[in-house]
Amino acid sequence: MTEKLVVLGSTGSIGTQTLEVCDNMKTIEIEALTAGSRIDILENQIRKYRPRLAAVMNEEKAAELKIRVRDTDTRVVSGEDGLLEAATIDKADTVLNSLVGNVGLKPTVCAINAGKNIALANKETLVTSGELVMKLVSEKGVNLYPVDSEHSAIFQCLRGNSGNKIKRLHLTASGGPFRGYKSLKGVSVDQALHHPNWDMGKKITIDSATMMNKGLEVIEAKWLFGVDVDDINVVVHPESIIHSMVEFEDSAVIAQLGMPDMRVPIAYALSCPERIANDFPKLDFFKIGRITFEKPDLNVFKCLKLALSAIDTGGTMPAVLNAANEVAVERLFSGDIELYQIAELIEKVMSAYTVKYNYSLSDIFEADSWAREYARNTEV
Ligand code: MG
Repeated sequence: MTEKLVVLGSTGSIGTQTLEVCDNMKTIEIEALTAGSRIDILENQIRKYRPRLAAVMNEEKAAELKIRVRDTDTRVVSGEDGLLEAATIDKADTVLNSLVGNVGLKPTVCAINAGKNIALANKETLVTSGELVMKLVSEKGVNLYPVDSEHSAIFQCLRGNSGNKIKRLHLTASGGPFRGYKSLKGVSVDQALHHPNWDMGKKITIDSATMMNKGLEVIEAKWLFGVDVDDINVVVHPESIIHSMVEFEDSAVIAQLGMPDMRVPIAYALSCPERIANDFPKLDFFKIGRITFEKPDLNVFKCLKLALSAIDTGGTMPAVLNAANEVAVERLFSGDIELYQIAELIEKVMSAYTVKYNYSLSDIFEADSWAREYARNTEV
């Protein structure tokens, strides 16, 4: 059970919902908050939660915030150093990392090294460096609680079953706004940003539309739960009621169900092993009526196929996949490429790359920079 919390990325979708969960739990003290540049929201959070430290990535915004909150006891720091200071601040027992992108990796590693438990919403940490990070987690004896709904579901299904071998993981996917499409050619960013079930940040919403999000989640699940990728089954389940399932050797399948509400997995990551009452919307089976399942179409959702091939290749390839995808999504938002070209761009970057095995964290950063550079300068 978390007592003193740091929220990295507190002004984003997961960050603000985390603070809502803390409001409900009442017992958690906020030690530090961080933001990229949204200082209006951060200022309100500082006044409400009175953290000892607030970090802002953008230097100018940090300077502005410093002036605005000089009547409080919160110290404002900036840039990557500030972010790392927040991630390792003394007294905090848990760091919730909801940063978006590969920028989330270093703070996770520093927090683990400082002996903090991690509530992990940042996907890139495990996608790019799962092997290294999981090793570090066990060396340091800290806990890693997944915040993502699918991984939280699996984590919950496994409780009480430790020691039993996992036969398969069934990772559910909503299928996004383009489920059933025969091609992603001609779809607009606007359409992609309207996710049928989940209200999330912009980058992850695009990743859900291309199903890259599910590919990244397969990679995370492999490292979190030590399961071969061949034993992870992606199941399209448009109603998003079953958040994922674990199949055991005796053919029993255990599922975790609930409304599509991120506050539930966030709360469990912070209260585990306890469960704290809340007034969030409850599941009404009669309203739902039926739930359905489909196979994902890998010929349409090529990003999912690419992610599976990247983890199959292994080594530094998932880091390259991830970086190429981040650049592709940026290029989509700037109007430079279309949604269907995201996969084309990633594929070009991956095939131009020579993978490295026996890698360290610095190799991951090198692979990441190489892939970004290549993805920015490649025509599709
Ligand atoms: Mg998810």
